[in-house]
This record gives sequence, structure tokens and C-alpha cells, in this order.
Amino acid sequence: MNYQEIFIEVNKKLKSCKDDGTVASYIPELHKVSPSKFGVHMCTVTGENYGFGDSEEKFSIQSISKVLSLSMAFEIEKNQLWKRVGVEPSGNPFNSLVQLEYDAGIPRNPFINAGAIVIADILISKLKNPNIEFIDFVRKLSGNNEINYCERIAKSEKSKGHRNAALCNLMKSFGNIENNIHDVIEFYFDLCSIEMTCSELARTFLFLANYGVNPLDGEKIISSSKSKRINAVMQLCGLYDEAGEFSFKVGLPGKSGVGGGIAVVHPGKYSMVVWSPRLNKKGNSSKGLRFLEEFTSYTESSIF
Ligand code: GLU
Repeated sequence: MNYQEIFIEVNKKLKSCKDDGTVASYIPELHKVSPSKFGVHMCTVTGENYGFGDSEEKFSIQSISKVLSLSMAFEIEKNQLWKRVGVEPSGNPFNSLVQLEYDAGIPRNPFINAGAIVIADILISKLKNPNIEFIDFVRKLSGNNEINYCERIAKSEKSKGHRNAALCNLMKSFGNIENNIHDVIEFYFDLCSIEMTCSELARTFLFLANYGVNPLDGEKIISSSKSKRINAVMQLCGLYDEAGEFSFKVGLPGKSGVGGGIAVVHPGKYSMVVWSPRLNKKGNSSKGLRFLEEFTSYTESSIF
């Protein structure tokens, strides 16, 4: 398929829709991004690349990093991991404290903030140099050694991160955080602060489109069974409280972030990232969602 032409075609179809929604502002630095940015990049498992628009511009990947930290922690901790975090959709906002109280400090899944904070705690417990080892993991997957945490964005979030600190404190009170709260939260904010382009991020996600193996060099990143499970969690929990709608309209496992990015995978075929900073009421990229819906309908390439 000539995906390049399809991107142009799908983008034309979106011209008649209003680019609604607002750029995230609760992390002050995110609000400075131009709302009209729009990029797409696809990597196929056979090594082809297709880019469109602002696909080579860096953006804050935010919660999309939760898939990468989960992949690393799952590989280290194996099924023990699921004693500390569940795999059910939360049906609540991604930063909700209420549910955590009812669930005795065990987050519903690794993609809500509480779950990703537990994953950060596991990485701190298991790795000698968590910050370095995590960014090395991302650099290896993306094929770009320059990728880094963004101090400016991390600092901006740290200045307003009281709710995440509250989640961490609550879980600590239930015994589900092993390390010092400050260290866990700082690491969590660093993970969210990473900046990448659509093309770097699509390449990073390629192993999940290829049963855990990086198709570009044949390296096994995780087992195919783990890849299956991570994709399943993405399918059910990757789009905040809009995962059902996303499954219904797009039909691919995916993960979004408040920076306006959405990463999706089609196992056996491709990984793809769209970026458009305006978010809908559920916190997902408005135009990104519409683009993916049109794209999978046009190409008939959902997993269903
Ligand atoms: N760093 C953000 C937070 O913790 C991530 C939110 C997101 O992208 O879902 O609120």
C-alpha cells in the first residue's frame, strides 16, 4: 500500500472537521506548544517508513512512556508484577484518588498514573541506575542515542504534581510503594518528560507490532507472550476513559498522552504515531483520534 498517499487522502478528509479541543495546561510547559501542529509516522515490520506533516518535530510523549516502563518492568519482574497492579480498565479519570482508596492501594492498570507510579517504584527497586538504564532502553529502541528526559518539562510538572504525590503517598500507606516517595515521583515525572518525534516513537513501538522482536535488527526485546499482554492492556486501558470508543472506532491497541500523541500498533504489520496537541474532554488528541479512525476505516486495517 502507498501509505504516503493514504495519509494525504485521509488528511484531506479531515479538513472539513473543526480541529477542536484545547492544549493541556495543567503542566504549564505543555501549554506553550502550537495547537496547529500535526504529524504522523508509520513504521512497517518490513522496514518501510511513511511520514506526514510535523512528523520530525519533537513533542512531549507524557503517558506514552508508560508502555515503555511497563515493558521494561514486566521483563524484569515477570508475572510477579501483577500482584501490585491490575489489568482492568479503570472507568475513572487517569489521576483519580478515589478508586485507589477502594482498591486498597492496588491500581487498576499500569496506564493510569497510580499504576505507572508503581511501575516506576519497581524499576527503582530492581535497577542500579534507573534513570540511565531506562533512557538507554528508549535510545536502543528508537535508534537515536540523543533522546533524553526534558528537564524543563519535568520541572514544570514537578511544580504542579501534587495529585501524583498524593497517589504515591496513598499507595505507600497501603504498602504498595517500596522506595522513598520523593525518588519515585521524581522518576515518574522524568519518564513522562521525554521528548520524541513521531518517527522516533513509531520506531520505538515497532517491537510491539512484531511479537516482542525488533524487526530491524532481530533483537528480542520481550517474549511474544509479554508483547501480547502489553497490547491487550493497551487495547483496554490505553486511551484513558475513552478506550471503548477508541476500540470501537479505531480498533487497534494504542496509548495516548496529554502531549497530544497517540501510539498504535497493528501486530504483524506496523506501528504508527500521530501527534496533534489539542485534546478532547477525555484528554485524548482530538484530531489524532479522527485521523486514526479514518485511516483504519480507509485501509480496513483494524485488528477486528
Ligand atoms: N505526566 C502526566 C501526569 O502525570 C501524564 C499524563 C498523561 O499523559 O496521561 O499527569
